[in-house]
Amino acid sequence: MSTSSRGYGERRVVPGDVLAVIEEFLPGPGTYVDEENGYIRAAVEGTARYNLLARTVEVRPSRALRVPRAGSNAVGLVTQVRHDVVLVELYGEVRLNPSPRWLYEYSGRFLGAIPIANVSEEYVKDLADYYRPSDIVLVRVLNNTNPYHLTTKPPQYGVLYAECSRCGARLEPVNQRTMKCPRCGHVEKRKVSVLASSRVFRIEIRRALIIPLR
Ligand SMILES: [Zn+2]
Repeated sequence: MSTSSRGYGERRVVPGDVLAVIEEFLPGPGTYVDEENGYIRAAVEGTARYNLLARTVEVRPSRALRVPRAGSNAVGLVTQVRHDVVLVELYGEVRLNPSPRWLYEYSGRFLGAIPIANVSEEYVKDLADYYRPSDIVLVRVLNNTNPYHLTTKPPQYGVLYAECSRCGARLEPVNQRTMKCPRCGHVEKRKVSVLASSRVFRIEIRRALIIPLR
């Protein structure tokens, strides 16, 4: 510890910077664990601070921190669909009332999960009939810590944007369980947000997420 601790002074970091490995430190606020290689990375832009006695590392944010909170409505990207859970990378916050509007991007990278029981009001047998990787979804956040617990049960939550699995074109919503490709006619099952048929809202989300949507 005495020799390795020299590398752990305060320093400026941006989201994704490697701070330590999990064998050496515990991840604190403003960090996340990269499970692929066991790195602790910065989740937000700010100053990395190491506590060498408690063996913790945290990042103090440099700006007002915009993070998901219990009760928030968030837009994110489906990254994985497993047999019992859908993993979502959360991008930013929207408000739904009085009219749906994009509010702001989150200050870093936040991960959430929709357990199969929270996907829909109906009995869900196969999650692949509800979400696919690369879908852009509207979710409700249920807790205050990373990784976040999410739900999409009420009708306003679900897919806003999805790509045709056959030709890659943007699917159009047909009803709350169906989307259709305007280019090749392919019909796909999804848990479609009722807001997916709001053209103004979809354009606003698309503008805010111009990079993820390519
Ligand atoms: Zn198509």
